[in-house]
Amino acid sequence: MPQALPTFDDVLEAAARLEGVAHKTPVLRSRTLDDRMHAQVYVKCENFQRMGAFKFRGGFNALAKLNETQRRAGVVAYSSGNHAQAVALSAHILQIPATILMPHDASPAKLAATQGYGAKVIGYDRYSEDASALAIALSHSQGLTFIPPFDHPDVLSGQGTAALELFKEVGELDALFVCLGGGGLLSGSALAAKALSPECQLVGVEPQAGNDVQQSFRKGERVKIATPVTIADGAQTPMVGAITFEIIKALVNDIHTVTDAQLVDSMRFYAERMKMLVEPTGCLSLAAALQAGDSLQGKKVGLIVSGGNIDMARFSQLMSAYP
Ligand SMILES: *Cc1c(COP(=O)(O)O)cnc(C)c1O
Repeated sequence: MPQALPTFDDVLEAAARLEGVAHKTPVLRSRTLDDRMHAQVYVKCENFQRMGAFKFRGGFNALAKLNETQRRAGVVAYSSGNHAQAVALSAHILQIPATILMPHDASPAKLAATQGYGAKVIGYDRYSEDASALAIALSHSQGLTFIPPFDHPDVLSGQGTAALELFKEVGELDALFVCLGGGGLLSGSALAAKALSPECQLVGVEPQAGNDVQQSFRKGERVKIATPVTIADGAQTPMVGAITFEIIKALVNDIHTVTDAQLVDSMRFYAERMKMLVEPTGCLSLAAALQAGDSLQGKKVGLIVSGGNIDMARFSQLMSAYP
């Protein structure tokens, strides 16, 4: 199904749809961070977005674009995490019935949040069942519109509004680091960067254990890997999206990777120095920027913090596992 790739105009239209609905999240600075990186660092905090992650932007944009017939019939999505909550909250706001497939072992907090928004939750086995195939089957049998987590023009255009806000607020950047799973956030950010800061070095960051996008980027074609074992549970995707990869190939400069230990270091930094809670996947961008060392010296650098959904038990467990 080849279709035209989304453009910066789609990001602008998404921003108009999100106006007054999504939070304009803060861009924070830290003198300690600037000193440590010998750079000017701008941290775009999507951990403060509604439902705790940028995913609200893409989910809401996709649902807001549905016509009356599609709205009445309802939507279906699958997710172990933030996309479930994003679609459930967006559906609640727009009064669209939502069915969300979540793994049986999804975190009780995420399950409760998703149900709390009024979505119907159906369990599946994340090791033996193909959630995407289940969601597509439900969409056919019940006439629901399937909302994919990243590989969709309206989803990725919505995700690009975070970077759009960042560039509008701070102007052009020398480099921007973006957390990366299936590539919705990175490809949307790339559309915004190309239009508003064309010289910006755009770096996607994924966990070292799951470097499928880095492999794909180097090979020029999508590489599929086994579901990686990493604490960055928002980036456990085995393969980058088809649409997102086309944009990434064309507009992104490089893909970096970081270890779980480096992610916990960044979580600790955010908590101690910037007084904020960031989930492991949301730390990918900072962890990579800290590794980039001298190459960022004197530069104006942006980091997108993608989400903050982690409970205290897990947070303290990770702090003691990586002292
Ligand atoms: C989904 C998610 C990501 C990855 O986003 P993609 O659009 O799939 O690349 C990163 N961080 C958090 C917190 C997420 O929920």
